Amino acid sequence: MLPATMTAQTWPVHSMDRPRPPIVEPGPERPPVPPPSDAIVLFDGKDLSHWRSLEGTPAGWVVRDGYMEVAAGAGSIRTQRDFGDVQLHIEWATPVPARGEGQERGNSGVFLMTHYEVQVLDSYRNDTYADGQAAAVYGQTPPLVNASRPPGQWQTYDIVFHRPTFTGDAVRDSARVTVLHNGVLVQDNTIITGWTVHGSRAHYRPHPDRLPLMLQDHGHPIRYRDIWVRDLKP
Ligand code: MG
Repeated sequence: MLPATMTAQTWPVHSMDRPRPPIVEPGPERPPVPPPSDAIVLFDGKDLSHWRSLEGTPAGWVVRDGYMEVAAGAGSIRTQRDFGDVQLHIEWATPVPARGEGQERGNSGVFLMTHYEVQVLDSYRNDTYADGQAAAVYGQTPPLVNASRPPGQWQTYDIVFHRPTFTGDAVRDSARVTVLHNGVLVQDNTIITGWTVHGSRAHYRPHPDRLPLMLQDHGHPIRYRDIWVRDLKP
C-alpha cells in the first residue's frame, strides 16, 4: 500500500480523468447553534473587527443581515490573530442564481494558516476537476463524497487541522486535516502535501508555528457566517 502522502500524488494535479466523488444528500440547511464556551468567535454576523486585508488595512468585505460577503476588488481577508492547530467552524453560501462553470462558479476558499486551502466552490451540479471541487484540499485531495447543498443554501465546514512542523527548511510532520461538510465526513485525517498552489505539485516551505486564517477573494460574491475556532494545544 502506498503511504498516504502518495495518494494525493498519484493523479496529475487537476486531472479531469480523476473520478469525481459520489454525491451524498446532506439534508436541509440548519440555523447556526451557539459556539462552545471556549471558542474564539471570529465573526458573529455584526462586524469585521477580527479581520484585516492582506495588507493589514481594515477588511473591505460587505457585512449585512448577519453575514459577510466577498466584495469586488477587496481582496482576500485574514484574521488578526494567528493560529496553529485548530477546530474551525465556518458556514458559507454561494450566489443565486449560479453563474459560470467549473472553477468560475462560486469559488472562494478557507486557507488554514494562510497556505492550506480547503476549497469553497458551488459543487452542486457543477463539474470540475476532483481535486478542486468543494471540500477538496485544493490541488491535492478530493473530498470522500460530494455533500454539497444547492447555491444560496447555507453550508457548514467543521475542520480539525494540525499544523506542519519543520526542521530547518525541511518538513518534519506534514499538516493534517479532517473536514465535515454539512455534517458529512469528507476529509479523514488527510495529509496535506504542501502549500496550496494552482496547477503544480505542492511542496512545503517553512513558516511560523502560528499564522492567520485566510478567506479567499476569487472574484465571486460568496457569503460567510458563524465563524469560530477552538485553539488546540499540541
Ligand atoms: Mg478557491
